[in-house]
Amino acid sequence: MAKPRVSRHDRQRIIDRAGALCEYCRSPLLFSTAPFSIEHIEPQARGGRTTLANLALSCQGCNGHKSTRTTALDPVAGQSAPLYHPRRDRWRDHFAWNADFSEIVGLTPTGRATVDALHLNREGVVNLRRALHLIDCHPPAEPER
Ligand SMILES: [Zn+2]
Repeated sequence: MAKPRVSRHDRQRIIDRAGALCEYCRSPLLFSTAPFSIEHIEPQARGGRTTLANLALSCQGCNGHKSTRTTALDPVAGQSAPLYHPRRDRWRDHFAWNADFSEIVGLTPTGRATVDALHLNREGVVNLRRALHLIDCHPPAEPER
């Protein structure tokens, strides 16, 4: 059976809802060298549906590292934790920026597991954050919710 596709209209709604930022690493779509993905938070392989409540805007790096995972190891506690869920969780409850805004710090088991599993501090995004900070385009504003 063919997988349901996201309509152009819904894709734009998801981009707008995310403020045109990757919902995990908060990289801006505007400065990306690769197209962003509409990602299934609960993977289709595990029954996740193609509905707005289960879709998130994700850069290629985060999407590739997340793959079909919904949990990962919290490197501090050494226990499995649920990955950050952009529809259920608030970013600022689980993450913060370090002093120079170049790296994301996990504040909770979910935050730490997500930073680690999705490689939220990849060299490329760290370099982008530094460059954008120099021109006052980083960090991005806090999401409304
Ligand atoms: Zn990302």
